[in-house]
Amino acid sequence: MKGGEVMSFFRRKKKDLSKDPFYMTSKAVVMYVRCSKCGEVFRSHVYKGSEIALGYKDGKSGYELRKELIGANCPNKIEVNAFFSNSFKTLSFDIKGGEFITEEEYYREKGKR
Ligand SMILES: [Zn+2]
Repeated sequence: MKGGEVMSFFRRKKKDLSKDPFYMTSKAVVMYVRCSKCGEVFRSHVYKGSEIALGYKDGKSGYELRKELIGANCPNKIEVNAFFSNSFKTLSFDIKGGEFITEEEYYREKGKR
C-alpha cells in the first residue's frame, strides 16, 4: 500500500454546529448565519481584540461575544451571544432570529445568486 492510500482514510472532520458553530482564526471568530425570516446568509467576523470583551460566567473568566446582524433584505434582527474560555474554546452560545450554518452551506448559498 502506498502512502497516499493510507492518507485517504483520514477525512476532514465534519462541522457539528450543535456543539460549536464558530470558526476560529488567529484574529477573529467567524460565523455563518441564515436569517430565519428571509433566508439571507451572512458571514461575520468578530475581532478578538476589539469586539470581544473579557467576561465572567458561572464563576469562570473568559470572553463574551455579542453580535447583532441585520441584512439588506428584511428588518429582522439576528442576535448572537456566546461565551468562550480563555483559550477561545466555545463554552456556550445562543442565536435568535436566525440559525447557524456551515461555511460550505454559506458558499453554496452565495453561489446560487
Ligand atoms: Zn432577513
